[in-house]
This record gives sequence, C-alpha cells and structure tokens, in this order.
Amino acid sequence: MRVLKFGGSSLASVQRFAEVAKIVQQLTTTDRICLVLSAPQGVTNTLVELTDLAYLGSDFRPVLQQLQQRYQQLAEDAAAAFPAATLEQVQQIALQQLAQLDAQLTGISLLKHCPDHIKAQILGLGEQFSVALMTSMLNASQVQTVALDAVSLVKSSGDYLNATADVAASEVTLSQAIAAQNAQVYVIAGFVSSNAQGETCLLGRNGSDYSGAVVAASIRAEACEIWTDVDGVYSADPRQVKNAKLIDRLSYDEAMELSYFGAKVLHPKTIGPLARYNIPCYIKNTLNPSAPGTCIDNAGEGDALVKGISSLEHLALITVSGPGLKGVVGMASRVFASMARSQISVSLITQSSSEFSISFCVPQLHLSAAKKALQQEFELELQTGLLRPLNILSDMAIVSLVGDGMRQHRGVAAKFFASLAQARVNVVAIAQDSSERSISAVVEQAACKNAVKVCHENFFSHIPSIDVFLVGCGVVGSELLAQIQRQQAFLHSRQVKVTVYGIANSKALLLDNDGIDLQHWQQQLQGVNQPFSLAALSQFAQQQHLTNPVLIDCTSSEQIAAQYADFLAAGFHVVTPNKKANTASLAYYQQLRHVAQQHRRRFLYETTVGAGLPVIDTLQGLLNAGDELVAFEGILSGSLSYIFGELEAGVSLSEVTRKAKAMGFTEPDPRDDLSGMDVARKLLILAREAGMKLELSDVEVESVLPAGFAQNALTDDFIAQLPQLDSAFAERIAQAAAEGKVLRYIGEIVEGKCKVAIKALDLSHPLAKVKDGENALAIHSRYYQPIPFVLRGYGAGAAVTSAGVFSDVMRTLGWQQQV
Ligand code: ADP
Ligand code: ASP
Ligand code: MG
Repeated sequence: MRVLKFGGSSLASVQRFAEVAKIVQQLTTTDRICLVLSAPQGVTNTLVELTDLAYLGSDFRPVLQQLQQRYQQLAEDAAAAFPAATLEQVQQIALQQLAQLDAQLTGISLLKHCPDHIKAQILGLGEQFSVALMTSMLNASQVQTVALDAVSLVKSSGDYLNATADVAASEVTLSQAIAAQNAQVYVIAGFVSSNAQGETCLLGRNGSDYSGAVVAASIRAEACEIWTDVDGVYSADPRQVKNAKLIDRLSYDEAMELSYFGAKVLHPKTIGPLARYNIPCYIKNTLNPSAPGTCIDNAGEGDALVKGISSLEHLALITVSGPGLKGVVGMASRVFASMARSQISVSLITQSSSEFSISFCVPQLHLSAAKKALQQEFELELQTGLLRPLNILSDMAIVSLVGDGMRQHRGVAAKFFASLAQARVNVVAIAQDSSERSISAVVEQAACKNAVKVCHENFFSHIPSIDVFLVGCGVVGSELLAQIQRQQAFLHSRQVKVTVYGIANSKALLLDNDGIDLQHWQQQLQGVNQPFSLAALSQFAQQQHLTNPVLIDCTSSEQIAAQYADFLAAGFHVVTPNKKANTASLAYYQQLRHVAQQHRRRFLYETTVGAGLPVIDTLQGLLNAGDELVAFEGILSGSLSYIFGELEAGVSLSEVTRKAKAMGFTEPDPRDDLSGMDVARKLLILAREAGMKLELSDVEVESVLPAGFAQNALTDDFIAQLPQLDSAFAERIAQAAAEGKVLRYIGEIVEGKCKVAIKALDLSHPLAKVKDGENALAIHSRYYQPIPFVLRGYGAGAAVTSAGVFSDVMRTLGWQQQV
C-alpha cells in the first residue's frame, strides 16, 4: 500500500480535487492507496478565525456564513463535475459541521473561554469535509473507495492542539479498519487524531504531513508521498529565492533539519516515523504529477556539500546568565524543564564555553509565558543576583544551512558567516549540531530574507553578479547600455551576471525587479515619472536583496557627484566618467576615499582622464610600488587635440569648432572645452592622484578664448561670433610655423604646480605629433626618467569611454561589503 497525502494547496477547489482524483485513479491500476487529506485550502485558517472571534465576543456569524458558502460552492461544483456523485453525505456533513460550529462558537462567545479540547474539535473539521467530498468523487469515478475515521483510528497523546502520534496504537486500529473493508482506496483525514480517552487531538498546524507519515508507518506502507504545490524540496523556499534548486534526494536527517528549521514544505515531525520503519518519502507536485519530485530515504550521502538553506521566523532569543550558572549542576536542565512544563518548544540552544550564559530561541508568541516560567523557576537566584535579569531579544529568526556533506569539508562555516556579513546581517547567536549536518545563526528577523538570499547565492548559484544602476543616458550612457547588452553572452560564458536594474535621466528613474530589457529601455523610461534619488535606489536594492549594486554616473552633474559619499555609505560601488566629484573640494575628495574604504565599496573613475586609456590605474600601480610623480605633461582633451591638429592644417578656429561639435567631439557647449576647464579638471585629478593637495583654483588656466569672449551668449550665438577670433588665431599659428613649431593645448605639472596653456612646440617634441583626437600623457617619475612613461591613444568618443566605464564596472566583482 502507498500512502498519498495531499495538502490544502492541492485541495483549493473542485478542479484541484478532480486532479487529485485523477492521480489516485491512475495509481490504482498498480497499487492500493491510502489517501490522507488536508482541509480545503484556507478552511483551517477560517476555523481559527472563527474561534478567535467567538473568544473575543465579536460577531462570528458573517465568517461562518462565508464558510457555509465555501462548502456549498465546493459541493455544487462537485455535482457539476461529477454528475454520478452522491453528494448527500457531503451535504449532510457540511450541515452537521455548521450546526456544531454554531453551537460551540456561541458557547465560547458566552463563556469568553475556549478550552483546547473544543478548539481541537473545531479546527479539525475541514479535513473531515475533504474526506467526504473526495470519497464521493472517487466513487463516482468508479474507484472503489472507503472513508476511514481519523479521529478514532489515529491515536496520539499529549497536548490537544499539538499531540504526538502513537504509532504502536494506531498500527492496531488502522490495520483492523483496513482489513475490515475491502477497497482500492482508503481516504482518511490528516491533522486529527484522538487520545486514549477518545478526545480529539490535533497533530499541530500544518500537521497533515505528519498524519501521512504516521499512517504510512502504522500500516508499514511501501512509500509515503507528500503531494503539494511545488516540484519537491528546493535548496531554499522557492517563494523567497527565485533561483532555488530542486533537490532530487535527501537523507532523513537532512530533511528533518531542513523542516525543523522552517522549510514549510514538510512538517518537522514527518520524518521521524518514516525513518524508524525505513519508508521512503517522496515530495511531489499535484500540478505537475509527472515530475519525479524529491526522494527522502536512507540512501548514502550525495555529493552536494550543502543541500539547503531554511529559515525560521517569529522567534525571541532568551539569555539566562550570571555567576550562578557556572559549574552548578542541573541549572541547564532547570531552564529547559521550565520550558517543557509550560509546553514551550525551544528551537535552538547555545551555551558560552565559560558556562556563564545559556541562550535559546522560543516562538515570539510564547515569550511572555517563557519569561514567566523562568522567573518562577529562578526566583531566588534572580533575587540574590546569582542570575542576572533575563536578556530578551524579540523579532529574531534562525537561518540554517543543512547538508550531510558539510562534515567532511572545511570552510563551510566560514563561507556561511562571510555571506551573512556580506548581506550586512548581524549574527546574534550561533549553533551547530554535533554531527555537523547543520549550522544555524540567529539574526534579526528584518534581515532574514536578505541573509537567506545572499547565502543561497554564494552556496548555490556560483555566479558572481553586478547589479547596475545607471544615471545619465546621453551619448556615453546609451553606448554603455548597448555594450552591456552586446556582452551578455560573453559574460554568461565567463560565469558573470551583469543586470541593469535601474536607468535614470534628469527627469525620471526606471526600475525593474527582473532587470531592464536593454532593447527597449528608451520607451520604458518615457513611461515613468518617479525621479532619481538615493532613497529610491537604496530601497530597491534592499528589497531585491542586491549584494553588488553599482551606481554608474554618466552625467556631468555636480549635484549627483555630491551624493557619491552617501551612495558609497549605502552600499553602492560608484563608477563614473564624471569629473565633478574628484575636482570638488579636497575635503570631499578625501571623504570619498575614506567612505569607500570604510564600507569596502569601490569608487572608480578611470575614464575621467584619457577616456579609455588606463591612466589612473597605471599611475596608482606605480605609486603603490613606491614610485613618485616628478613631472607631467600631456594632451588631455580629445576635442582640443582634434581642434589644434586641424588648425595646424589651416582650418579656421570657427570652422573646426563647428565641425568638432557636429561630429560629437566636443561637449554640447564647445566653450566647456575651449575654456580649458575640462583639461584643468583632468590635470587636477592626476595631481591629486599623485598625492598633491591642490584645489581646482590652484590650476593656472589659459583659455583658448580671450577673457570674457561671448560669455553670456547662447551656444549658437557663441558659434556665430567665433569668426571674430579666426584671424588672430591664424596669425598665431603662422608665427609658430615660421619658427618651426606647432601649437598644442598642454596640461603640465611641474614642481608641484599645475598649468594648462597653449604652447608652441618644436616639431621634434613628442606631443607635436599628437592630433586627430588622440591623447598623450608623459609621466616623468622617479623610476621613469630621463625617458618618461608615455600613454598614447584615442582619448575621446563614446565607444572608448563606455568601454572604460564597463571595465571599471567589472572591477567591482568580488568585493565583499564591510558591515
Ligand atoms: P500544502 O498545502 O501542500 O501542505 P504548504 O504550503 O504547507 O503546502 O507547503 C508547500 C510550500 O512550502 C511551498 O509552496 C513553498 O513555498 C514552501 N517551502 C518552504 N521552503 C521550501 C523548500 N525548501 N522547498 C520547497 N518548498 C518550500
Ligand atoms: N489543515 C491543517 C492546517 O492548515 C493541517 C494541514 O494542512 O497540514 O494547519
Ligand atoms: Mg503543509
């Protein structure tokens, strides 16, 4: 005989009941079946609600009416779907139940008291309705079916609401009942049982799984199948962790640990009876019956190190401490005996090795009872100071890592705690079972989901990820998005995941939980009106439990640059070609580095100097190795490199400026280039990188334009006025040419001073050959002299700049956050 247990999720509607009937019918061709059923989904919760309402003296009748409608609907739908079904019995059971409920709830309401044995009778009604409905549907499908009475046949002892099954006693009653009536299928209610006095007892909330196991053990079934709404046991709750992995096989011990620490798919007491009689257990999906499911048995250990991560929420951590604990025999036993007497289950225990304190978790709901029990038990010790006042931490959760394979491996615990640190989770207490099958950490409940997600990613997905938020989608930003999209396949092959979660321009911020479709981001961005803000990004990153968020600033905004320190402190790496932050006050410059270091986030700005050329990285490399910058000279502006090259070839200043602007070589307002400020900023960044403590105002700048020229004009008017400067420039160039020289726009650092100026260079000077948008940087250092270290290459344009930004983004990989 096989035992098949179907949970409430498989019994949500008549359609689901019918699917169950179909699965059962197919199996009857080869096996005899014992079906263990939960209540239709939600019914137990409605019954709980009803008793609570009655207990509080509130009006329970509207809810009772809802239940009546639900029963009626199920019966009517069943009649429509199974015309041959005789539903009188179902209707009769519904009527009986509703009458009983009405009477009992009225009594509870009058007495303002609800004894547990009455509550047990009420809460168990839903399963009995399921049994009646399923029996009539199966009989209507020509499957010879008999309903068994779980209350009298499943025996238990202990608490009315959370009893322990008595397999030995149930073995006798169940086998007799089965032997007495011949059938293909026996249907029995889960969740309910009775004690030696014949009173109804429940096997605990979610306890139908346990019923399934008890029935299977009692009749020594070939297998116990738990049918639910997922394909099996996953490496984490699939509702919480998107890419949780299905586990094919678990040992009994692993399944026990996972369920004990919160994997709701299986009630924690289920495995005990099955393991005792070595009955294999399968977790199967009613909505996908052909999927193999998860097999739980006694088979040898699999190769997986860690099988799953589970979490248990709504706990309080109690610490009993004080000199009275040290070396005194029996103190621990008194602590836990007092919990047992108050029927409080303890889910994790740790003791300091000095025996100075014992900490343990209890359900938050039972905290006040637990406190009372401890205060009573240790009244004397608390009064005399042998024990300190109880230390209580509320709203805690346990995160547990489970796997038989852990015991043969080193470093699992280290990785677990590193993951928790990475998730910015503070570990309050730790426990490991002595067989090393599970490691548990107590954390604040608010941090629990994040903890599970990050641990899962580190143990199961192995794919390092970068979570991108881009602000500024002009030429460079758009090109970067295109590059990220083009590189997806390559990155995937290298086992790296780059996902763009947010894109913002000056007007709006687009966020997408699944990552933005990079083919259609423009249209999507048009449809949103939330503005860009640190708060919005931070909240999103937290809600999505992102561990490696990167802010890419492709604007030239001072306002956004001023927020980098806050972004770094909030856990974002910052990558940018925007020069404003590094050329703001020296104090801010230093603050950024300090915050980045403190939070172990990266602030990367390679493209602020020399576009895609590896300038900053190279300079940092030299300085780290003990080198020092002695002097520097270079052509640092792609636009001015182009303009001066063309001037040399005889093109007028006004014409070349127009051309450069049309080709996208200049800033939107070419004055930003011609004023020399862009070069001054780059020079300052280099100087500061080399350790010089300078402000932007310390850089001496010779503008290409005469002082005050077209200062207040609009861009187009400025361009229209430019021809006024043509002849003077032509003259200056001719004069240089007469001396065998060319004009170049040079930034230099000499003797601690930064200067930007138009210089006439001999044709033999290396920078004289640099034009057409090329950059060249000559670094004279202590190691590189008398011949300087020279970097030269195309220093402008969206493609190289974006590639440089992209490369900075990739450097954020593998950085674990400091908490
Ligand atoms: P049933 O009504 O069939 O008893 P439950 O809701 O009690 O179903 O249990 C199934 C649910 O357990 C799944 O929908 C899933 O969200 C949850 N769950 C939690 N942890 C796990 C896990 N590790 N693997 C599979 N499911 C899990
Ligand atoms: N119906 C019961 C509950 O909701 C038992 C179960 O479904 O496992 O707790
Ligand atoms: Mg369940």
